[in-house]
Amino acid sequence: MKFSKSQKLYEKGLVNLVGAVNSPVRAFASVGGNPLFIKKAKGSKIIDVDGNEYLDLVLSYGPMVIGHRHKKVQKAVHKALKNGYSFGASTENEIKLAKIVCDAFPGMDKVRFVNSGTEAVLSGIRLARAFTGKDKIIKFSGCYHGHQDALLVAAGSGLATLSLPGSLGVPEGAVKNTLIAEYNNLESVKAHFENHDDIAAVIIEPICGNMGVAIPQDNFLKELKDFLTSKGALLIADEVMTGFRSKFGGAQELLGVEADITCLGKVIGGGFPVGAYGARNKIMEKVAPLGGMYQAGTLSGNPIAMAGGISTLTELKRQNPYQKFDEIGAILEVILLETAKKYNVDLVVNRFGSMMNPFFTKNQVTNFKDAQTSDTKKFAVFFWEMIKNGVFLPPSQFEAWFLSSAISEKDIKIFANAVDKSMLAVSQMEN
Ligand SMILES: *Cc1c(COP(=O)(O)O)cnc(C)c1O
Repeated sequence: MKFSKSQKLYEKGLVNLVGAVNSPVRAFASVGGNPLFIKKAKGSKIIDVDGNEYLDLVLSYGPMVIGHRHKKVQKAVHKALKNGYSFGASTENEIKLAKIVCDAFPGMDKVRFVNSGTEAVLSGIRLARAFTGKDKIIKFSGCYHGHQDALLVAAGSGLATLSLPGSLGVPEGAVKNTLIAEYNNLESVKAHFENHDDIAAVIIEPICGNMGVAIPQDNFLKELKDFLTSKGALLIADEVMTGFRSKFGGAQELLGVEADITCLGKVIGGGFPVGAYGARNKIMEKVAPLGGMYQAGTLSGNPIAMAGGISTLTELKRQNPYQKFDEIGAILEVILLETAKKYNVDLVVNRFGSMMNPFFTKNQVTNFKDAQTSDTKKFAVFFWEMIKNGVFLPPSQFEAWFLSSAISEKDIKIFANAVDKSMLAVSQMEN
């Protein structure tokens, strides 16, 4: 397999782009080597500039849930392009997408569209503060909520509870209202309420995908929600990743809770830049122009992006691939576990519907501390062998893999073969 064209573009890209990427998750820092440059994609496959074809389990980090370049989406987008790209005024398609989204979330009467998941969450947080009149927010270590200052707090180290900024350029003041709790540990949330009486909300990924996949245990989410209700604080579900991933709607419903505010992104744009936040009327009425919470966007509700979102969600609903996702996800999980066993490699697989990933560790992974016991060197070897055998994975141990409804029986064979070669390579590593 040759990567010479990717290599050349990478070197060229380094001149005017930072690290030749526009998002650091695309850099290959933790697996070594240079990032691949992509030429095109179709269905379950992605093709790089050297012509190598891969089964794509990145799927743009989630959005391409019905596969790349679905005919119906292409048609809808082409049609929208004919009418213009942006108007700075309302269009009917915004109402259509809003209805699709609100109908799919029981706790959402109204929604506001923005351009990214980051924007959705920062607006959702502002809304929680506007509604409660309180300032503090609790987040869980290992959960990612976009790159706004207030939520870029060090996650996972023993010092995490001190709210140390996790990025240069984030002033202490920006995170002084951010408190850190541990995923799957309600006591760590309660402890903050004992010390603070100005907590507006807890934000959570209902299924965590950003430390790798971690699943809420037992009644964690329900107990969290009941506790917050008793304290007059809101639950913000960051469903940017999980929205429309495991059911047509939110993971919160599958898990038996209703969040006060829900943030969305990824799938709802079908590959175009769309984010959203929504809630019941009494909360959304705080947002301008109905209320005093300001939030705006020149390109928000962009007509091309709306067409992409509507056509993707309409086709997704028609296909209703969620049972298939679960069945195929289970098959891939078994392939990973059995192959690891065959080659004597310690491996844990976490999966929720069409989101999954393996951790190279012996420990069950229920929080960020557990996730960090993974052997990232093994992941790096595994990653490159998967690439060489035709499977494109996110270049990090701590990212979820995704399925699209375009995945086929043949793809599963490609996957099984690649996993066999890759696990063998891991088992042959020198310690
Ligand atoms: C991807 C993601 C975000 C950020 O979305 P962007 O579109 O990258 O800004 C926020 N929260 C979660 C849970 C995500 O997975």
